[in-house]
Amino acid sequence: MTRYALIGLGNMGGGMAAVLAKAGHQVQAFDLSPAAVGRAADAGAEPAASAADAVAGADVVLTMLPAGAHVRQVYDQAVLPHAGRDALLIDCSTVDVDTARDVATLAREAGFAVADAPVSGGVTAAAAGTLTFMVGCPEPLFPNVKAALSPMAKTVARAGEAGAGQAAKICNNLLLGVSMIGVCEALALAERLELDPERFFEIASASSGQCWSLTSYCPWPGPVAAAPSNRGYEGGFAVAMMLKDLKLAQGAAASVGASTPLAAQAEALYALFDRLGYGEKDFSSLLQLLRGRLDTLA
Ligand code: NAD
Repeated sequence: MTRYALIGLGNMGGGMAAVLAKAGHQVQAFDLSPAAVGRAADAGAEPAASAADAVAGADVVLTMLPAGAHVRQVYDQAVLPHAGRDALLIDCSTVDVDTARDVATLAREAGFAVADAPVSGGVTAAAAGTLTFMVGCPEPLFPNVKAALSPMAKTVARAGEAGAGQAAKICNNLLLGVSMIGVCEALALAERLELDPERFFEIASASSGQCWSLTSYCPWPGPVAAAPSNRGYEGGFAVAMMLKDLKLAQGAAASVGASTPLAAQAEALYALFDRLGYGEKDFSSLLQLLRGRLDTLA
């Protein structure tokens, strides 16, 4: 049994806390939202009164927070002053590469072993314990990080040194954000050309257009039963979250002078959709914007 602290019990962290508790680990859980703490407690975690209380005595400190500013604050105010020096610190939030590197430097200077380990897989994988973790840490530390994350994981892959996990995550989501728009455009065009979208799905799935956004997460309701398109585009990966990741990608690209013209277009499109009021919807609902059928979104 490992003693985990988990700070940030939202869509992702809540599922992770439940998976760890179910696997027989002790989970000291904290969130600013008392309701989120309550849900974690119902799932078998031990509610903590503060982030400082949560990290006290923990073997592994996990953070699953909205963005870089939250991670910096929680590390400054709770993790670094209150965790035991032998605790392994792993930030699983998606944040910018610079924040990940800064936090790792501060933690190392304070005597901690630390890793960034953002995830892919979304809410369903968090609840099922089948996340993919992309890890940035020194190579000798990786076996410990892998062991700590394994109860929640399908895959734990080391990307490189501190910040490399975030770099991998940002590049992956750039690819995802762009590919989803391509799939939505193709489906919307297929419909206009009087091609049955489900028939097009079958053909493209067996052709060179095949990709994860089409065959695992189809934005057209019907062909992929588990996709958010079949539940009103609720509870998946929010437009606002995709927009956040594309902004991180654009910021990273600007900082190193990389050319990412399609990601720039994708960011503009998700930003428009967000401004129209659909930020909470799953990002695959962009299909309805391109079809001119926003009326189908509740
Ligand atoms: P969320 O908003 O549902 O949860 C974040 C939680 O952090 C909230 O419950 C909030 O109250 C809590 N929080 C904020 N500041 C805090 C603080 N100072 N102390 C304690 N708790 C605090 O977000 P989420 O969907 O769970 O995403 C978490 C992270 O995972 C984000 O960085 C996101 O980009 C990343 N991510 C999300 C998904 C997804 O599908 N939702 C997929 C991959 C990665």
